[in-house]
Amino acid sequence: MVSRAADSNFIGELKNNNNKELEVTSDKLLKILLIEDNPADAKMVQLLLVDSDLEQHTLTVQNTLTTGLEEIKNNDDFDVVLLDLSLPDSNGFDTLKKLISAHPNTNVIVLTGHSDKQLGLEAVKLGAQDFLVKGSYNSELFSKTIRFAIERKKIKENLEEAQLRYQNIFTNSKDAIYVCDLEGKLINYNKATSNLTGYDKENLLGINITSFFEDAEFWDSFLNRILQSNIVVEEEINLVCKDGSIRNCIIYAGKLSYGNFSGVNGFITDITERKQAEKLREDRKIAEKTNKLKEQFIASISHEMRTPMNAILGMSNLVLQTKMNQEQFNYISSIKNSSELLLGIVNDILQISSIQNGKIKFEYDVFDLHDLLANLISVMQYKVFEKNLEFTLEVNPTIPRYLIGDKLRLNQILYNLVGNAIKFTDEGHIRIKVEELNDSNGTWHIQFMVEDTGIGIPGDKIGVIFETFTRIRTKERIYEGTGLGLSISKNLIEYQGGKIWVESTVGEGSRFYFDLIFEEGQEPEAGSVLETLDPMTSFNLLLAEDHPINRVVATQTLKKHFPNLNLTIAVNGQEAVEKVEEMDFDIILMDIQMPIMDGAEASKTIRKMDSEKSKIPILAMTAHANIKEDERYKDYGMNDYVLKPFEPEQLFHKISKYIRLKKTL
Ligand code: ADP
Repeated sequence: MVSRAADSNFIGELKNNNNKELEVTSDKLLKILLIEDNPADAKMVQLLLVDSDLEQHTLTVQNTLTTGLEEIKNNDDFDVVLLDLSLPDSNGFDTLKKLISAHPNTNVIVLTGHSDKQLGLEAVKLGAQDFLVKGSYNSELFSKTIRFAIERKKIKENLEEAQLRYQNIFTNSKDAIYVCDLEGKLINYNKATSNLTGYDKENLLGINITSFFEDAEFWDSFLNRILQSNIVVEEEINLVCKDGSIRNCIIYAGKLSYGNFSGVNGFITDITERKQAEKLREDRKIAEKTNKLKEQFIASISHEMRTPMNAILGMSNLVLQTKMNQEQFNYISSIKNSSELLLGIVNDILQISSIQNGKIKFEYDVFDLHDLLANLISVMQYKVFEKNLEFTLEVNPTIPRYLIGDKLRLNQILYNLVGNAIKFTDEGHIRIKVEELNDSNGTWHIQFMVEDTGIGIPGDKIGVIFETFTRIRTKERIYEGTGLGLSISKNLIEYQGGKIWVESTVGEGSRFYFDLIFEEGQEPEAGSVLETLDPMTSFNLLLAEDHPINRVVATQTLKKHFPNLNLTIAVNGQEAVEKVEEMDFDIILMDIQMPIMDGAEASKTIRKMDSEKSKIPILAMTAHANIKEDERYKDYGMNDYVLKPFEPEQLFHKISKYIRLKKTL
C-alpha cells in the first residue's frame, strides 16, 4: 500500500534531478516505512499523513517484522520507520532491539498503545528517536514528531561526522595537540605529543606539561596570558625531550572550560628543522659576505703593496746601475730578487681574486708559438743549467706557427708548469711537448705536456694540488711558493674551455698536461712590427704622478734610457691638464689614482681639447694588476697602459710604439 500526496510527475522529476540544492531542502521527498499489522491503525497513519503538512512523501507498509526488515534491507533509504512493537512475529522491546541490531542507523519512531506509554519512554532509551501513542495524536503532532525525528537524526549524524573529523585531525596531526589542567597536568593528547616528547602514550598521562619546558618559569606567565585573553596565544619555546635533546617549538594555547573543568588546550609545532634551515641560509649568507670581504681586503692590501714594491724594485734597479763594490752589489741584488718574488706573490693574489670575482677577460691576438716557446726556454734555461738538468722541447711540425689566442695567459701557464718542474726536480730532465689533438674548421686543439723526473706527487694529493693555497709538505726540504700557481693555471685554462690534469709517481716524476683550442692565425706582414725608437731621439714627455718615490723611479729609468728626453712633471691631474694647455707633448704617462683630479678625469679633459693636443698618446700608469682585466683605461680615452712597478723594457717598448705611431701619422 503506497500513498502519494504529491503529484507523481513532480516526484519523478524531483527524483531525477541532479541538483543537490533541491535535495537538501525540507521539501525533499520523505520515505516512510510503517511496520504495523493492524490494518485500521495503518489506514489511520495513511490518512494522517495525507492530512499532514508533510507534502511530499511515500509511505510503504509492511505487517510483520520480518517483511519490514526485508524492506529496509532492500530499500535502505527510509527517512523514518514507524514501528508497532506488537507484531505477529515479534512482540515488545525485542521488536525494536531486533530492528536496531539489524539496521543500527535506522530512524525509528515507536508506536505504542495507550496503556504502554512507559514502553515508549524506554524505547527511546533503547535507541528509538521518539514514540507516538496510538490514538492520542493528530496529524499535526504526527508530522511534527516525524520532522523532529528526522531533524534530530540529522543533527546527530552531523555531530558524529564532526567528531570523526576532529578525531582524524587529532590522531593524524603532525603537531602535538594537548589538553591540560590549569597546573599543566596532561589530560588528553595525541600521538604527535608522544612523538615530540619521546614518552610512550601511556606514560604521558598526568605528566606536567611544564616539565618539558626548558625555561621553568615559562608556564606561569604564559598561563596568565592565556587566562586574560579570549583568543589563542602563542610563544616560541624550547622543549626538553625524554632523551635530553632540545626542540625549538611554537606553543599555541587557549582557555578551555566545560562543566566543572577549567584548563588549557592547544597545539605545539616543532620548528627545529625550519629554524635549522633558516640558520643555514643565514650562515651561508654571512660566509659569502665574509668571503667577499676577505677577497676585497686581500685585493686592496695587495694593491696597496704594489706602490711601495714599485719603489723598492725601481730603486734597486737604479742602484744596480751605479758603481758599487761586490758586497754592495750582492746585497742590492738580493733585495731586487726578493722584491720580485714578493711582487710575484702579490700579483698571484690579485689575479686569483679577480678570477674568483669573475672579472677575467681574455685577449685573442695572433702570436708566434715558436717565439713564445723559444722565449720560455731561454728564460728558464739558466735555472735548468744551474741544476744540471736536461731540457728538451718537441713541437709537432703540423701545428701552425701563428695562432690566435691569449698569448700572455699561455705564457703564464707554461711558466708556472715549467717553473714547478724545475723547482721539484733535482736530477734528470724536463721535457716540453706540444701535440696536435685534432683540427677542424680552422681551429686547432693543442695539447701541452710538461714532464719532469722530480719528487712526484702522492696519489692522495693529486686531487687537491689545483686548489688555492695547496702545497704538499715534504719532510726533507722546504720549497718556496704560495700554492696559487696551479690554481691560477687551472682557472685560466678552464675559462678558455680547456682542461688540465696530471699523472705522477712519487720519486719518479710528474707529467702535467693541458689542452686549449686556438684558431690558426696569419703571419704578420713584414715591417708592421715596430722597430724600437732610437734612444737618442729627443721628445717631450709629460709624467703625471703624485707619488714622490715613483716620480724619481720613473724619471731616472726614463732618463737613463732616453738621455735626450725633455721630461715635464705634473703632481696631479689638474696640473697635467694645465701643462698640456701650456706646451706640446709627444706622449703622456698618466697615473690613474691621483689627488685633486685623477688620471681618468684628466685624460677625458685632454681628449676634449680642440686641437692636436686632444690626440696626444696617453699611457695609463697604474699599480693595479687588474687594469687589463677591466680595461677601463680605454673608456677614459687612454691609448694603452704600463703597469707599475715598471718592466723597463715594456715601458720603453710602449713609449717607442706610440711615439713612432705619432710620427708616422
Ligand atoms: P707553488 O707556488 O707552491 O708551487 P702551485 O699551485 O704551483 O704552488 O703548486 C702546488 C703544489 O703542487 C706545490 O706546492 C707542490 O707541492 C705540488 N706540485 C706542483 N707541481 C709539481 C711538480 N712538478 N712536482 C711535484 N710537485 C708539484
